[in-house]
Amino acid sequence: MGRRLLIAGNWKMNGLRAELAELDAIAAAVASQDTGPGELLVAPPATLLAAAREHLPSDVSVAAQTCHHNTRGPHTGDLSAHMLQEAGADSVILGHSERRTDHRESDEDVCARAQAALAAGLRTIVCVGESEAERRANETLTILGRQLDGSVPGEVTAEKLVIAYEPIWAIGTGLTPTPHDIAELHAFLRNRLALRFGHAFASCVRILYGGSVKPSNAAEFFALDDVDGALIGGASLKATDFLAIARSA
Ligand code: PEP
Repeated sequence: MGRRLLIAGNWKMNGLRAELAELDAIAAAVASQDTGPGELLVAPPATLLAAAREHLPSDVSVAAQTCHHNTRGPHTGDLSAHMLQEAGADSVILGHSERRTDHRESDEDVCARAQAALAAGLRTIVCVGESEAERRANETLTILGRQLDGSVPGEVTAEKLVIAYEPIWAIGTGLTPTPHDIAELHAFLRNRLALRFGHAFASCVRILYGGSVKPSNAAEFFALDDVDGALIGGASLKATDFLAIARSA
């Protein structure tokens, strides 16, 4: 199958120009081939996309954290996929639970944004994940299936699609699912992709785990069969932690 691990850092609404020093540290590690076997990706705030592209070597991906579904128009404060691509992004995170909650993004919204991203040539990293209440109500599989089906556009290619499984209750909490649960849910997601797009497609798509990934627990997740990397929030803000996670791959 040969899926290369993807180690993705989501800076969220963190990062001023002073923090570009963290990217210089990542660039130095890449130059000395001291980053582990995975592909690296950093998703800074939109204000730092252009600078991030300049500070990082070309084999480190730069991602935006969302995009608008339209190409242009009267959408004050929003950014189109093409604008983000022009600013330096090659990828975009879509449907993060913070976007789904704070901005009420539905699966349909995420799908429309993904279509716009694909039209602009961006790789899409589509996030899915259940809440604590949904988990307790044994609704995890229903929620993940619905989000996956509704958020991923039919015209996507396997190279332009990454899925991130991020249980909401694990984000920023220090809590994580058991390795057994992660393995089971990643297998569920891959099977669901196979049902819709076929086995060859599904076996190429990388499925990341996200939620309180740290240098101390990353290796355990990377060892799991259907886990193809990590989407990292808090621990991606310091290059030392981010690189320690990458090296544990
Ligand atoms: C995230 O928000 O994508 C995330 C996984 O955050 P953290 O690693 O801080 O839990």
